[in-house]
Amino acid sequence: MALNILVVEDEPAIQELIAVNLEHAGHHVIRARDAEGASAIVRNALPDLMLIDWMLPGMSGIALAKLMRQEERTRGIPIILLTARSEEQDKIMGLEAGADDYVTKPFSPRELLARIKAVLRRRSPQMTDDPVEIGGLHLDPSTRRVFGNKAPLGLGPTEFRLLHFLMTHAERVHSRAQLLDQVWGDHVFVEERTVDVHIRRLRKSLEPTGHDRYVETVRGSGYRFTAEPAG
Ligand code: CA
Repeated sequence: MALNILVVEDEPAIQELIAVNLEHAGHHVIRARDAEGASAIVRNALPDLMLIDWMLPGMSGIALAKLMRQEERTRGIPIILLTARSEEQDKIMGLEAGADDYVTKPFSPRELLARIKAVLRRRSPQMTDDPVEIGGLHLDPSTRRVFGNKAPLGLGPTEFRLLHFLMTHAERVHSRAQLLDQVWGDHVFVEERTVDVHIRRLRKSLEPTGHDRYVETVRGSGYRFTAEPAG
């Protein structure tokens, strides 16, 4: 699956090397040279993952990772720290700051891609191609198909992404703003009402097998996917 990866690295040669390899693997790369530039990009749209160099001019990579973890909106972004330091103590500091993983320079592109995959599987299962199945509803990201009790269901692309996110984060309540961030990515030009429209379409698509009941409205809070619908 193509990801939006924000690479925060001040050394142009290393930034280029990482970007070329990630783009070759089918991802979209956004670049920043320091924490300030990275913060501005994140304010505009949430990336699917951040690769942050430890040693940056100004605010350090580790301080940037901490900052991302402090805010509700950015807390869920998977973060991998890049560093030339390989001391055990440094690794612990990095993980305590909120990084999901840690890659020591020099690293091979293959190692970096493997780490990205592992972190996403843990942190953002909706970004992987692993199939999900809950209560007879089966969603397969690699073929982009959905089955209810083995019968194929037709979903639009946005409804598919919405269902994928809800199913991989089942039983939790998500606000409209959170869904816009997670499913639409860039929420600047999209109104919260849009979420309601697509939830309605999603339920309609799930109706034939009765799985529309699994998409619950939680009054005053948002939406949730549940394997045990009320009523
Ligand atoms: Ca650096």
